[in-house]
Amino acid sequence: MERRPDVTSIPFDAGAPAPTPGRGMAASWGRFPRVTQEMRPMPRLSSVLPVDDGDARTLLPYGNGRSYGDTCLNDGGIVIDCRSLNRILDFNAGTGIVRAEAGVMLSAIIDIAMPQGWFLPVTPGTRFVTLGGAIANDVHGKNHHRAGTLGAHVERFELLRSDGSRRICSPTENADWFRATVGGMGLTGIILWAELRLRPVESGYVDQSTVKVRSLADYFAVAEESDAGFEYTVAWIDNLASGASLGRGLLMRAEHAPKVAGPLRRSRMPTLTVPFQPPFSLINRASIGVFNALQYGKQRTRQAEARVPALKYFYPLDGVTRWNRLYGPRGLVQHQSVIPFAAREAVGDLLRAAQRAKAASFVTVLKTFGDAPRVGLMSFPRAGVTLTLDFAHRGERTLQLLAELDRITVEAGGAVNPYKDARMSPATFEASFPWWRELLPFKDPRFSSSFWRRVTAG
Ligand SMILES: Cc1cc2nc3c(=O)[nH]c(=O)nc-3n(C[C@H](O)[C@H](O)[C@H](O)COP(=O)(O)OP(=O)(O)OC[C@H]3O[C@@H](n4cnc5c(N)ncnc54)[C@H](O)[C@@H]3O)c2cc1C
Repeated sequence: MERRPDVTSIPFDAGAPAPTPGRGMAASWGRFPRVTQEMRPMPRLSSVLPVDDGDARTLLPYGNGRSYGDTCLNDGGIVIDCRSLNRILDFNAGTGIVRAEAGVMLSAIIDIAMPQGWFLPVTPGTRFVTLGGAIANDVHGKNHHRAGTLGAHVERFELLRSDGSRRICSPTENADWFRATVGGMGLTGIILWAELRLRPVESGYVDQSTVKVRSLADYFAVAEESDAGFEYTVAWIDNLASGASLGRGLLMRAEHAPKVAGPLRRSRMPTLTVPFQPPFSLINRASIGVFNALQYGKQRTRQAEARVPALKYFYPLDGVTRWNRLYGPRGLVQHQSVIPFAAREAVGDLLRAAQRAKAASFVTVLKTFGDAPRVGLMSFPRAGVTLTLDFAHRGERTLQLLAELDRITVEAGGAVNPYKDARMSPATFEASFPWWRELLPFKDPRFSSSFWRRVTAG
């Protein structure tokens, strides 16, 4: 059966930083750094950007601000809020191809597609991101070893440049523009709409198998075996465990469950929220220590099986909106690195460096990236182990720790993720993306971001 919804308006997302049309202070999900920029909505059905003639300020598309750092910020400039482009234009329930404007949330695509037996081919750990923002960062999910990045499932999109020109881009049409824009961090123009190939599912559940890993070596062994046998794998790590227990945690593998009785589950909006920002970070060594002990201890056996709602497996953090407020007024900083398999012992060095600095990370995640070819010129994933750490921002000592994590990563031949970053040096960026200058011929001359100016002096 083919379903073609006409105009579908998506309610404004729960949990995003409040949109601030007009000029003012702004921050992304990490709430660091804070910049002064002007936000203007992108007019629908227009080839003209919302900028006055003679305004020399730089421009940047804005999705839902779920990048942690400053790739979606434009200090002193204008950000063009693409959430006004919020219509799902077409969904073919026979082929699973959805065409949607770039400001549509992934949650809205799930809402329409899942009850009809389709799911996102690749999804990040939150569903409250826009389609355009997800393509511009070429996001990855828990199935990189099987499915690569989101860009591998994009059929085509339309790109608008500041000179008013429009291009349809696909792996075969304007392929060089496609490659530059997927993962291009919004610097090549505005994606107006995109077509995404979904993957079939029989139910709204996944069959989850959780293995309690006792150490980093144990994680590496179980992850290898799990990647061979499961579509999705991800590990939560107790980052405070040290010595022989360094790297202990829970490795959660999953497959979409076969058909179960009852309707396919729809996406639900979260029910809990952090209503205000506490005056100091509630995320600290003591609270994380308690959480980690409970989390690691809750599973007594080596392995446990469960059938769980897919949304619970994919988006555990979406259950509480505005959870970033828990980190207090200075915000949080995230560090995501990827370390080549041959140098994977460096993951232990990263964990030890955080411990030496007495910095506890609330969300510590280990995953493996497979060797899928890079779809976008600036796509972050590459074969190896990827470690994500997030820390309450405590000023200079946190910045020093992050610089040390960069050093370990680069020395191991790895890379640091730009769209989780708020402070990496030009040298770290160069080491992570030695080929970044290949993007320059495609960069829109009017577009720039705080991140881009910092790492390229451009
Ligand atoms: C809880 C949480 C979990 C996450 N888990 C993951 C994960 O597992 N994997 C992962 O890869 N990422 C993850 N992320 C990061 C997030 O998925 C990405 O940063 C995502 O790209 C944010 O999308 P957005 O719509 O909020 O875009 P924004 O953050 O607003 O913008 C992202 C980039 O896209 C550009 N952009 C936005 N709209 C357009 C457009 N229409 N045309 C062109 N460029 C555009 C912007 O200029 C910017 O450079 C996570 C983030 C959070 C908060």
